[in-house]
Amino acid sequence: MPTVPTVRGPLDTADLGRTLMHEHVFVLSTEHVQNHGTGDWWDEEERVADAVTKLDELAALGIDTIVDPTVWGLGRHLPRVQRVAAQTALNIVVATGIYTYDEAPFQYLNRGPGRLVDTAVDPMVTDFVRDLREGIADTGVRAAFLKCVVEAKGLTPGVDRVLRAVAAAHRETGAPITVHTNARAQTGRLVVQVLREEGADLTRVVIGHAGDSNDRDYLRELADAGCVLGMDRFGLDRYNTTAARVDTIAELAAAGYADRMVLSQDASCFIDWFPDEEARAALRRSAPNWTFTHVPTDVLPLLRERGVTEEQLDQMLVGTPRRYFEPA
Ligand SMILES: [Zn+2]
Repeated sequence: MPTVPTVRGPLDTADLGRTLMHEHVFVLSTEHVQNHGTGDWWDEEERVADAVTKLDELAALGIDTIVDPTVWGLGRHLPRVQRVAAQTALNIVVATGIYTYDEAPFQYLNRGPGRLVDTAVDPMVTDFVRDLREGIADTGVRAAFLKCVVEAKGLTPGVDRVLRAVAAAHRETGAPITVHTNARAQTGRLVVQVLREEGADLTRVVIGHAGDSNDRDYLRELADAGCVLGMDRFGLDRYNTTAARVDTIAELAAAGYADRMVLSQDASCFIDWFPDEEARAALRRSAPNWTFTHVPTDVLPLLRERGVTEEQLDQMLVGTPRRYFEPA
């Protein structure tokens, strides 16, 4: 029986259940907390309890698992997520990788093939593979997938290096990949191009934030290459409204693409991009539906109204997430 690592340990992929494929428990930079957070807007106990409440609410609405692509650059810190996972029924699957729109972190710039410290293997690959095989830092929690970014700037040297390192770790371990893309700049095409060159299995790649686009030709092109479309930012209306996202998904499902779409909200229990109460209030005004419960509460009924069948919804919520985490 194939298993997937979760924060609480290995889980049979058959038990993943209804899965939201792109949610964050905490987006929280250690540097921000250490320098400007303590005692002001960050209270560890309050935030852990709040995360448990939010995830329990999601579990009560019939969601079994969230897949959390928080990596270096977004403040991944597993001990805090472990505290949350120990107190909620929801399964949490975590990632390794690097979140950058441009340059690679300085810690890698002088190390690697042909660099000042000339190594045979890119140390990024070594670090990613260790997270996937042995565990993250000393937590014993294994990452289940790889995450990186190709934003509007495209394949800068840093972004290109991280994407190719992700591909190398994927080839070595078989772990699947999620790439944050910019739908307006249609950077999913660059992801397909590079991952194809690198010999990745495109059927185990999620083009994250593809659902910000309503360009059917672009979306079909990615899906026809075998990729999974991340229809994963429900509630972020500034990128695409819920009504338009639903229309696009319903059309693609009717055209036979239900097996190449996954659903999510890209929500966070806490995100330090909106650290204090004033910022959080502004966020609630500008994106009132960007919550942990928008998909089960509002989106699924809207998709049903638009003719998406239960079988197709199961495919997006259960079947494709399971296949994604099973070895090819
Ligand atoms: Zn995200």
